[in-house]
Amino acid sequence: MPPLPAPESPTKLRFEPTRAAGLARWDHFASRGLRSYAGRRNHDVGPGERTEVSELSPYVRHRLVLEAELVRGALDRHPFQAVEKFVQEVYWRTYWKGWLELRPAVWRDYRQALAARLDEAEREPLATRLQEACAGRTGIDGFDDWVRELLATGYLHNHARMWFASIWTHTLGLPWELGADFFLRHLIDGDPASNTLSWRWVVGLQTPGKVYLARADNVAKYTGGRYAPRGLATDAAVPPAPPPPPASEPSPLATPPAAPAALLLTEEDLHPESLPLDAVEVVGVAAGHAATERSPLGAAPSVLAFTRDAQADALARTQALVGRFGAVPRVLPALDVEPVLAWCRELGVSTVVVPYAPVGPARDRIESLRPPLAAAGVALYQIRRQWDASAWPHARRGFFPFAERIPALLRENGLG
Ligand SMILES: Cc1cc2nc3c(=O)[nH]c(=O)nc-3n(C[C@H](O)[C@H](O)[C@H](O)COP(=O)(O)OP(=O)(O)OC[C@H]3O[C@@H](n4cnc5c(N)ncnc54)[C@H](O)[C@@H]3O)c2cc1C
Repeated sequence: MPPLPAPESPTKLRFEPTRAAGLARWDHFASRGLRSYAGRRNHDVGPGERTEVSELSPYVRHRLVLEAELVRGALDRHPFQAVEKFVQEVYWRTYWKGWLELRPAVWRDYRQALAARLDEAEREPLATRLQEACAGRTGIDGFDDWVRELLATGYLHNHARMWFASIWTHTLGLPWELGADFFLRHLIDGDPASNTLSWRWVVGLQTPGKVYLARADNVAKYTGGRYAPRGLATDAAVPPAPPPPPASEPSPLATPPAAPAALLLTEEDLHPESLPLDAVEVVGVAAGHAATERSPLGAAPSVLAFTRDAQADALARTQALVGRFGAVPRVLPALDVEPVLAWCRELGVSTVVVPYAPVGPARDRIESLRPPLAAAGVALYQIRRQWDASAWPHARRGFFPFAERIPALLRENGLG
């Protein structure tokens, strides 16, 4: 496998990893692009000052900015019909999260298949072809630039992601799992649900019988003629795969006791101020992440830098709320048993509360902590936001039946 290319400077991020920067980006987009989003969102004008889309995904992914805030902000400015498309796109993220949450085996199967593909990628003929693709040396107009944009910025426009994934699998004939892994390592918004399920959709696994094929005229139209790729695949075999597994129920959660507790943040939710903590008396807050486990190959330095600094930003905000959150916040060296136990002993607590970590590396880490913490007398509780709890149970079928529920979901979240 090719080594991870380092960005020019891991600290010089295109996306400033703070909530304030996310909110400023939202204000910018809301005043310039939101009203015309439905008609303009498919246009990829290239890196720079985009207003066709919000470029908020790095912030939403880590919940530096909440989905509910975007929807409320949109509805405060315009009637529902005028921003319906934007609200729907925000709910795509929620839908994918829920869909995977109800079918965790899909993530496990992907990880297993990925391990086998990475093994194959150690040898020819895959090794060289993969290296050429990951270095942006395929000669395919557009594709090579998207590789460079992804490596330099940690972001790609949605349409570019679709074209990229289609060319990767259908034109270059590379295994989709390696493409999904390449994205997950380099996208700052890299997300187990949105990423894996979007790749599955492109290759025809998500909606059985349907594949997504990038067409040269579509690329030319939506990039303002910047690219006119030649030789793109014009058909693709639908993979012989079983339909997705049936949905389970979202896992029930025990309520934390009304006792002093330590609040442990992961990269999944970095807005502790708005967590539904109810009667929990938080006496200390810390953060740790599992971003290095996004892939067996780790994650790009820029992804790690964003995650680390975004966590520092969340902790700094809790300092401003010190009366509510107790002791001085801290960064744990790792999401491991020893540092968590040492911190609990220091605080004198036997309860740890974690904002719910959906299917993915952070969840795996948290669940691996549960038995040894319990053995040491420390109980771990996860708390789920109303936004997720109301929507996820409806992610049982396709997006369109889910989308019909959006007005009801908005009402349930006090937004309708
Ligand atoms: C192959 C492929 C891989 C992808 N991988 C990821 C990923 O790892 N992480 C990720 O967050 N998104 C992923 N997406 C979805 C989508 O491309 C990005 O969410 C979107 O491009 C983010 O840009 P934006 O913030 O400017 O979006 P906007 O258009 O401004 O949308 C606002 C917000 O809505 C959500 N959203 C919009 N479109 C989608 C969508 N199609 N699916 C899910 N959420 C959406 C995002 O949170 C986004 O920030 C992927 C799509 C494809 C086709």
